[in-house]
Order: sequence, then C-alpha cells, then structure tokens
Amino acid sequence: MRELKEKIMSEGIVLSEHVLKVDSFLNHQMDPVLMKKIGEAFAEKFRDKKITKVITIESSGIGPALMTAYELGVPLIFARKRKSLTLNSDLYISKVYSFTKQEESEITISRKFIDCSDSVLIIDDFLANGQAALGLIDMIQQAKAQVVGIGIVIEKAFQDGGRILRERGIKVESLAQIASLSDGKVRFVEEALA
Ligand code: 5GP
Repeated sequence: MRELKEKIMSEGIVLSEHVLKVDSFLNHQMDPVLMKKIGEAFAEKFRDKKITKVITIESSGIGPALMTAYELGVPLIFARKRKSLTLNSDLYISKVYSFTKQEESEITISRKFIDCSDSVLIIDDFLANGQAALGLIDMIQQAKAQVVGIGIVIEKAFQDGGRILRERGIKVESLAQIASLSDGKVRFVEEALA
C-alpha cells in the first residue's frame, strides 16, 4: 500500500534490527486518514469471506481494526490484556508472549461476543513472531468460531510469524512487508507495495 510505505519511510524510526517505531501515525498518535485507507484496503481483500466479526488486541490494533470493521459493516472486538472483574467462566482466555515487552500476559474476550456462528477476521498493527495472532486464534477456536483470515498493517517478513500462520493454511494479508531493518534502514519486500 503506497501511502503506508511512504509514511513508514518518512516517519518510521528504526530502533534496532528487529523493532520499528511508528508512534507518529499508528502506535501513539494515529493518522485517521491513513487508518481509513487501511480499513478500506483490508475490507477489499476480505469482502468475499462473509465476515461477522473483526478481532484485535488492545491497544495499537484498535485503530486499523475499527476502520476495517466499519467498512465491512460488522462489530469490532478487542481482546483485553488484563482480566476483567467478572468470573473467568465468562471469558475466553489465552496467553501471549509480547514481542515488545518481552513478557507473557493473559488476553481475554467475553464469551458473550463470539460464538460458533461467527466468521472472524483478525487485524493487528504488526506481525513479528505471530504470538499475538496465535493467542487470538486460540480464543476464536475455543468459541468454535471460524478464523477466515488475518490482516496485518506491517509484517516484518524476516521474522517467523508470517510463515507459521500461512503454514497453518490461514490467509494472511499484509499492507507493507519489511524485508529487513538492518543498518538503520527500512527495506521493503517489493511485491507487498503495489
Ligand atoms: P508477534 O505477536 O507477532 O510476535 O508481535 C506482534 C505484536 O508485537 C504486535 O501486536 C505489536 O504490538 C508488537 N510489535 C512487534 N514488532 C513490533 C515492532 O517492530 N514495532 C512495534 N511498534 N510493535 C511491534
């Protein structure tokens, strides 16, 4: 996606060979015009899938996921990172190892928002090792709902997540794929940029 690639080039900060900071338009301050275009792009890629819910994890996935849900005309559910005060029996629970925080946390979704009749699209801001997506898939499967695909804003193609998820037969669509962050520079996988 051209606009996203340009934004990454002009505003992205390479923190290390593994981490890209995009807090001026996605992870802290959000660019609503870009988020709207991201929502349209994901909706276009998954429109034929009869999606009933969009799911993400708080907090950085919420912007792009909400715009996608709006375009598809379905609700957005964001998994919460802390247990709510309700009983555990009301929740689907999974464990996720956070790439950025380097710690394991529990994520939860209320059972009342997802069931076996749902076809779910997962949206997230970044794909690194796939742990966030796998945690969401685990909860969707606990609900006996269907995972119809995963939309990722920025996939770091040099990490394992994309391969792990695609090997499971899941349709993964990324709007920008980064081939490397070495020497302080962002290099894209060209074919993701059309
Ligand atoms: P994964 O679960 O695929 O290992 O990592 C994805 C999650 O970690 C995303 O939800 C995102 O919040 C965070 N993340 C992974 N890599 C990066 C990165 O390079 N930059 C930022 N800002 N977040 C990242």
